[in-house]
Amino acid sequence: MVSRDCLDWPFFDDGHLELAHAFKQWATDSLPPLLEGAEEDADAVYLCVRRLVGELGKAGLLRSCVPAAYGGTREVLDTRSLCLARETLGYHSGLADFAFATQGLGSAPISLFGSEEQKRSILPGIAAGTRIGAFALSEPDAGSDVAAISTRARQDGDGWRLNGVKTWISNAGLADYYVVFAQEGNGSGSRGLSAFIVPANTAGLDDGERIDVIAPHPLGTLRLTDCWIPAENRIGFGGDGFRIAMSTLDIFRSTVGATALGLARRAMDEAVGRSLERRMFGQVLADFQMTRCKLGDMAVSIDAAALLVYRAAWTKDVRGTRVTREASTAKLFATEAAQQVIDAAVQLFGGLGVVHGMPVEKLYREIRALRIYEGASEVLKLIIGSKVIEDQRSADRCAAP
Ligand SMILES: Cc1cc2nc3c(=O)[nH]c(=O)nc-3n(C[C@H](O)[C@H](O)[C@H](O)COP(=O)(O)OP(=O)(O)OC[C@H]3O[C@@H](n4cnc5c(N)ncnc54)[C@H](O)[C@@H]3O)c2cc1C
Repeated sequence: MVSRDCLDWPFFDDGHLELAHAFKQWATDSLPPLLEGAEEDADAVYLCVRRLVGELGKAGLLRSCVPAAYGGTREVLDTRSLCLARETLGYHSGLADFAFATQGLGSAPISLFGSEEQKRSILPGIAAGTRIGAFALSEPDAGSDVAAISTRARQDGDGWRLNGVKTWISNAGLADYYVVFAQEGNGSGSRGLSAFIVPANTAGLDDGERIDVIAPHPLGTLRLTDCWIPAENRIGFGGDGFRIAMSTLDIFRSTVGATALGLARRAMDEAVGRSLERRMFGQVLADFQMTRCKLGDMAVSIDAAALLVYRAAWTKDVRGTRVTREASTAKLFATEAAQQVIDAAVQLFGGLGVVHGMPVEKLYREIRALRIYEGASEVLKLIIGSKVIEDQRSADRCAAP
């Protein structure tokens, strides 16, 4: 749940406050019954995410995933709205956050770079929760190293023929379409990449292979064998793929930080509650100085993460520039901090902290992947460090007589 103090920060307008309130209300009143039975098996997880997308859509809560002209709330994608939504959903349920986030991630390339026709045919369904999207960038041999993508799209008649394998794809097997990044023609490296909309029912597309992860989400592998799609399914121009992917991540990396923040706030609340009630050695756990130090460290990490996440989101929305450094910093700090906060919460719960189904145990599983996807922490450090050097060099050039 977004802290009331945080909503007083100058990063937000009245619309953001209303949105945060609407998400909190929905997560408190409507979400619990939707999650019942979700963790029973893999099929239940898939069914639950489909249900969550439908209900989020009916409640009007997916409208922040698309621009206003196509059923959204704001003229263009608003990073602060996406962050507030994800922080609140993350606090209540990792799976609800996943359902929301993947709708945004899977449609952002179209919102940002799509043709009018692509936007009209896909975005209203995303906002209504009647159409499910997915973002298919990673491959078995191209995760952190995006330039190593080997899926290929060759021109064939009035269209494209795609061959390759995509893996770790959120919503694989559930999505109605995939935004697939592939080398166009004989292209290679990051400059050869283009993005294509591949409907899930395309002949030659196999999206049935699932991957089980520690915090169950719909996730799997796509195999594209001679998949033909019409020419108009390419997003933007040939060679735009890397720019499309990175511009999408410029928005979504901050939102991953926001989810981590929501998970950390929940861990903090659970830890404080337990510390105040657990009796030992003639007092409660919260009375020990060491407990207060631990809670102090957790609180500082959470505040710092919130400031970095909303600084990045505000900069993106208000300045309208690329925010690669700010978004990478927000994601790196917030996810690493949340991992430590959640670990500390598990420790404060003692044995109960590792019992399957306890809120802190679930948080412990939920947080782990966030430090890997959309830029592993090591990759983000390299991006930030390189940007520091680049900025210094350009400052030196400007200062040169
Ligand atoms: C739950 C989940 C959901 C995902 N959803 C999607 C999705 O919807 N769409 C999609 O396209 N992808 C998705 N991914 C894939 C994700 O983006 C990749 O897992 C990620 O980019 C890392 O790639 P990799 O797994 O191949 O690891 P590798 O690239 O093999 O990296 C392994 C490790 O090497 C280290 N490393 C990497 N680069 C460097 C470096 N330069 N220097 C030093 N160390 C380095 C890091 O610690 C990294 O974790 C998802 C992954 C997970 C786990």
